[in-house]
Amino acid sequence: MKFCSDCGAAVSLKIPAGDSLPRYVCDACATIHYQNPKMIVGCIAEWEKRILLCRRAIEPRMGLWTVPAGLMENGETTAQGAARETLEEANARVEVGPLYAMYDIPHINQVYILFRARLLDLDFSAGTESLEVKLFDEADIPWEQIAFATVRNTLTHYYSDRKAGEYRFHLGTIERAPARN
Ligand SMILES: [Zn+2]
Repeated sequence: MKFCSDCGAAVSLKIPAGDSLPRYVCDACATIHYQNPKMIVGCIAEWEKRILLCRRAIEPRMGLWTVPAGLMENGETTAQGAARETLEEANARVEVGPLYAMYDIPHINQVYILFRARLLDLDFSAGTESLEVKLFDEADIPWEQIAFATVRNTLTHYYSDRKAGEYRFHLGTIERAPARN
């Protein structure tokens, strides 16, 4: 950040009185511009034994597969955000179900929240951020072409839970990885 979004003056990085971390503080109006983690919300959309995956048409990880998920917007709940992202990326309507996984990704300041969801009909198609949207059986999941560690971990848990006969909530942390995450 270089300029204050309130008055347009330059900002400086400094620790405000009573705080413990450096913040961008406006040199003119003294507004403190806090920066906090972003929430990514999404879902595993199920249709019978299959789940919906989207092949990304945008960076990062263009061309790789993911569950529908994206940045939560102001004014919506996490479940509403998951349903909205599924509609935007896959033109698919879902009934959002139980919370399934939450991942902290501290090195990129993100929190991933993924629900299980029920696909309401088969009238889906690629949204503008997707190249392709498909239902996958477990045997056909493109494990080597999954876009994100969060999604790969979540799907690993998902199929393991399915085999065990019980879906339970998973909390995890994704650490920085040297080559791929
Ligand atoms: Zn200012």
